[in-house]
Amino acid sequence: MTFSRRSFLKAFGAAGALGALAGCETLPKRGGGGHVVVVGGGFGGAACAKYLRRLDPSIKVTLVDAHLSNYYTCPFSNLVIGGELGMDAIKVDYNALRTKHGITLVEDHVEAVDADKRGVRLKSGKTLNYDKLVLSPGIQLNYDKIVGYSKEAAEKLPHAWKAGAQTSLLRRQLEAMPDGGTFVMVAPPNPYRCPPGPYERASLIADYFTKHKPKSKIIILDPKDKFSKQGLFVEAWENLYGNMVDWVNPERGGVVASVDAASMTVTTKDGDKIKAAVINVIPPMSAGKIVIAAGLDDKGWAPVNQRTFESVKTKDIHVIGDSSIAGPVPKSGYGANSEAKIAAAAIVAAFNGEQPGDPKFVNTCYSYVSAIDAISVAGVYELDKDNKIIEVKGSGGVSVKGGAHYRAEGLYAKGWYESIKADTWG
Ligand SMILES: Cc1cc2nc3c(=O)[nH]c(=O)nc-3n(C[C@H](O)[C@H](O)[C@H](O)COP(=O)(O)OP(=O)(O)OC[C@H]3O[C@@H](n4cnc5c(N)ncnc54)[C@H](O)[C@@H]3O)c2cc1C
Repeated sequence: MTFSRRSFLKAFGAAGALGALAGCETLPKRGGGGHVVVVGGGFGGAACAKYLRRLDPSIKVTLVDAHLSNYYTCPFSNLVIGGELGMDAIKVDYNALRTKHGITLVEDHVEAVDADKRGVRLKSGKTLNYDKLVLSPGIQLNYDKIVGYSKEAAEKLPHAWKAGAQTSLLRRQLEAMPDGGTFVMVAPPNPYRCPPGPYERASLIADYFTKHKPKSKIIILDPKDKFSKQGLFVEAWENLYGNMVDWVNPERGGVVASVDAASMTVTTKDGDKIKAAVINVIPPMSAGKIVIAAGLDDKGWAPVNQRTFESVKTKDIHVIGDSSIAGPVPKSGYGANSEAKIAAAAIVAAFNGEQPGDPKFVNTCYSYVSAIDAISVAGVYELDKDNKIIEVKGSGGVSVKGGAHYRAEGLYAKGWYESIKADTWG
């Protein structure tokens, strides 16, 4: 599907509706009060905390995150891995949430949720009580699902799927790799954070190799038969990098049986052994640990009322972002930001004795295919009569093939990144 004028206008209309939420000076004054504790200061949690305060300044909001002083965004982290940006470019500053929006920031780890007493217990020993709790803890990486992989092994075979030290580690390994070396990526099964992310990463590493280590090879071992924006990625790889990138699907033996950090070898289910200079293992994932520990998941992800993002398992706890089950809305920063606003509006409505509204969701994911060219996928979503999220018919789509617009999309991607950061943390 490609963008038509109608689908673009539809998408723009929905974005405009969320924009109206941002301009909440026009909304009626609320005053219901209440205390909301938000766990996780990433794309979902920070946006929810901010919009709660903007929609109803009488609400006290406490945002708890274990990494307030060193949160790095996953979006644009592949540009760091490809050598285009430094780590500083993806570091987040939380100051505006405190000074502009009056949010109480707590840098701590939430160890347990006591839903009966409406409290969360922190590693420091303190307990925070809430009227409503929002959980946006992102993902948990399930190291044990791959034989030979572990948190320790990830120090040699980085996942780099949570931005930070792992991002720098993978970058350093690529810099140290000799020309002519092999880079192997073990891609994750569905569902996972950022569907196009692995393929954007392969593209940016191919860009780096082409410029600095042109004899090198990239092998993506994939347990999936297809992936997001596949046609566009494959076309770009062929046009820009010749046969440097080899995507190996299950039919060709892409399913991995084990990895071995000591010998730097990946063994596939078919018994092939691939020795590599750098191995990037992106393991299967599930909802953040705290969601599972609180018993809010169903097979690893949190089912929610998709109108309010309140857990279907426990009242007064909302789960947003990557951890939640949001139907066709991808596990993306943009998706998490959309869900955050919807949850914030629903919580404000509840505190003020109102019914939740009729939400619309928006998502756009840009992916770089080279350091300056990008492709995108967009979608607009709404609820059906059963309260389930569906894609608005005729909305969204992917970039037009052929590359004519990719340079422009590379610029739009930068604009998107700056605006979502400002909207979430600014
Ligand atoms: C390589 C890569 C590229 C990506 N590119 C894009 C992109 O271009 N566009 C896009 O929209 N999305 C992109 N994403 C996806 C995006 O990063 C995630 O979907 C988004 O971060 C989800 O937001 P979240 O709030 O659910 O989780 P996060 O942003 O991960 O935030 C979770 C926070 O919760 C904190 N936390 C967790 N548990 C606890 C606890 N118990 N106590 C205290 N704090 C806790 C963590 O410290 C973390 O700060 C990309 C992802 C990757 C890996």
